[in-house]
Amino acid sequence: MRNNLFILSGPSGSGKNTVYNGVAALIPEIEQTVSATTRAPREGETDGVDYYFLSVKEFEKRIRDDAFVEFVKYGDNYYGTLRSEIRRLNEAGKIVVLIIEVRGALNVKRVFPEAESIFILPPSIDVLRERILGRGQNTVEETEKRLRIAEQEMLEKEKYDHRVINDKLEDCVNEVADIIRKGVCKE
Ligand code: 5GP
Repeated sequence: MRNNLFILSGPSGSGKNTVYNGVAALIPEIEQTVSATTRAPREGETDGVDYYFLSVKEFEKRIRDDAFVEFVKYGDNYYGTLRSEIRRLNEAGKIVVLIIEVRGALNVKRVFPEAESIFILPPSIDVLRERILGRGQNTVEETEKRLRIAEQEMLEKEKYDHRVINDKLEDCVNEVADIIRKGVCKE
């Protein structure tokens, strides 16, 4: 069967969103699911486009309603992939990509073992720190918290189907695009 579910994962600051954007420019039929979260929107983020921004109460109602394929508490907030999102993109004939953190990725793999998982690695923890601080979206304290999570996340990399180092962006994009093309063509 044609595989059209991919998981793009890796620590915060590994560049997985930037890598995805590069891949999407090469493979127009891919689309990412829009996750739900309880974190506050950042400047420039739009509800329904970047995330479905929900209150804790709304998110917890959806958990009770079994609306999520997976969800996690990451830092102080909930993040989750809605079943309805995967359905929506499948029905539109898209190659579906979930861009999620590590625990969620491993949970999705349990539900959909056929999904192909890709771990994006930063060249080093120091580069990761620079990238997270450079984005200017997180305080020093939040950054340190994300780095501690990242160190734990890196320990899980062997559980993925593929590992790609994001040192030179273009190389990383090409490598991920190849994995997706090959995965889609697999019988
Ligand atoms: P951010 O707050 O920077 O947007 O996201 C924090 C982390 O949560 C990132 O690693 C991001 O990929 C991850 N994330 C976003 N959506 C989901 C989701 O639906 N499920 C899981 N498990 N992680 C998510």
